Amino acid sequence: MVNDEIYDLLIIGGGISSCVFVSAHIKNGFDGKIAIIENGRNLGGRSSTRISFTNNGWKLNHGAPSFNICNNSKNKLIKTFINDLLDSNLIQTDPSDIIELNKGSTFDSEINSEFYSGTNYISRTSMSKLSQNIIFYNNCKNQIDYFFKTLIVRLDYTKNQWILTSKNGHKFKTKFLICSSNLLLHKRSLDILNVNQIPLRKAIPINKDKKIDTLINLLYKQEYIQRLTFLIYTKSNYSYKDNYKNKYRYFILNKLLEERYKFERIIFQKQENNNLGIVVHIKNKQFINKYLKSRNRDRFKEIILDSFNDLFDNDKNIKKLKEYQDIQIMVWRASQPSGFAIPENLQVNEDHNIAFCGDWFDCEGFGRIEGAILSALKLSCKINSLY
Ligand SMILES: Cc1cc2nc3c(=O)[nH]c(=O)nc-3n(C[C@H](O)[C@H](O)[C@H](O)COP(=O)(O)OP(=O)(O)OC[C@H]3O[C@@H](n4cnc5c(N)ncnc54)[C@H](O)[C@@H]3O)c2cc1C
Repeated sequence: MVNDEIYDLLIIGGGISSCVFVSAHIKNGFDGKIAIIENGRNLGGRSSTRISFTNNGWKLNHGAPSFNICNNSKNKLIKTFINDLLDSNLIQTDPSDIIELNKGSTFDSEINSEFYSGTNYISRTSMSKLSQNIIFYNNCKNQIDYFFKTLIVRLDYTKNQWILTSKNGHKFKTKFLICSSNLLLHKRSLDILNVNQIPLRKAIPINKDKKIDTLINLLYKQEYIQRLTFLIYTKSNYSYKDNYKNKYRYFILNKLLEERYKFERIIFQKQENNNLGIVVHIKNKQFINKYLKSRNRDRFKEIILDSFNDLFDNDKNIKKLKEYQDIQIMVWRASQPSGFAIPENLQVNEDHNIAFCGDWFDCEGFGRIEGAILSALKLSCKINSLY
């Protein structure tokens, strides 16, 4: 299929940075035709929600469950944006308990979680819905076309126009391209997309554009943290021992406990019908490698339950987890960029009508939702000044 429409702006990726960018750009007066192309089934990306139809529509945030803003007072862009979300009732400050586990440790509990400093916010609905709502509350003109389950594998730039090709052969054309993920620029594309050259490199050969060369070279220094999330659908009789009322409850393990149990954090997520979902986050490299190499991945469900019960043994609020309705496992091969953050001055490339946003830029909040949002807000200001 060749989509004959030539979009004024096309954005690859439907994560939160893409949604914030589109929303801010429309708010800033952009009235051209936009397309969002996303590999997944819905908006949200790494801050999305799994709606399980096999488990009566349970909604579990399997990536980021919430987000924290550390930079609120200093940065006017992010402050205004967050206030708008609060005023529109899309988010609220997170009232949940954040419990630091340091069982058996003789040291002070040294919690090193970058996710719980500053102010924490949660979506009033789900994380995926938050991304949708961010777009909807500014999009009065129906100027966006969405293409889900569409993975772009090839980029071409000819006659000042971008032509994108998806894995199933669909083509899209645009005057201006935005990549909200760096997959098509990063060396991991070679394995993931099974291509022999990084797609952006193929579109703009070496020495044609210094800024693109620098961007691709710097990305060689950027690595990604892997994570596993175990989504536990408990039976309807499983509940807290106390009368905890909030939707979420976070348990964060200190370094010693994480070493012992392999869990990074455990997030209880109450469902509308009061059932309790439990999402276990793991970033321990050895554990993840063992899991990925294992021929019997199902046995890891039992390992997780045993560790969970051992960890909360004697906890006055948490019952033993003996049975469950279902456990699903999500592998995040690239859950957060780490190491080198890409300088902001590489966000916009005027010579080739292409720009970038996402948590991989050197904004405050690098590797987190805060950074993803800020990079998108900054990009919208920068692109506005181009027209
Ligand atoms: C398990 C986990 C826990 C986390 N916890 C937290 C937390 O507590 N707090 C916090 O602040 N952050 C957390 N993060 C990080 C946070 O989720 C990210 O920083 C943020 O969601 C990044 O948003 P983004 O828009 O930059 O990128 P993404 O959400 O990755 O969006 C990019 C989108 O582009 C799509 N895409 C990429 N390439 C293509 C292609 N070629 N064709 C089509 N589509 C494509 C992807 O499918 C993706 O949906 C967590 C992440 C994970 C995975």
